[in-house]
Amino acid sequence: MFSLYSGEFLQVSIKDLMIPSERVAHVQVGNSLEHALLVLTKSGYTAIPVLDPHYRLHGLISTPIIMDSILGLERIEFELLEEKRVEEAMNTDIPRINSGSTIQSSISHLVDHPFLCVEDSNGYFDGILTRRSLLQELEKLANQPKG
Ligand code: AMP
Repeated sequence: MFSLYSGEFLQVSIKDLMIPSERVAHVQVGNSLEHALLVLTKSGYTAIPVLDPHYRLHGLISTPIIMDSILGLERIEFELLEEKRVEEAMNTDIPRINSGSTIQSSISHLVDHPFLCVEDSNGYFDGILTRRSLLQELEKLANQPKG
């Protein structure tokens, strides 16, 4: 068991805390914005990863991004939901972390992002590390008796 007081917590592996890719809701680059909105609404998540058929990470798509991309000058152009592809709207400027890294390297990113996408050493999507799972681990250690 790691100790919070020794600073070992920072050495915990990302792999140990992340949600593995098979449990992460995602969409594919070529999906329509309508499909992405459906997945986001049904899953209840604010943003989800965008992958290609080879499981490589391309970006993130969120409900605000989708709404912004169908916003016309005078009305919301709902018909664009069917026409536009996820890759036209997604945010590609996202932090990526490696599953072999330690928590230390991800903390500063988690200040600004509710979750981070994790890639393996070959650049394939491996899962996500959420701010919640980091805080849960911290809470566990903070409540552990000192010794
Ligand atoms: P949470 O910490 O569980 O509230 O999750 C924070 C954010 O991480 C969510 O709003 C989603 O954007 C993302 N997220 C968490 N779990 C998943 C999952 N299983 N699949 C896709 N995205 C997730």
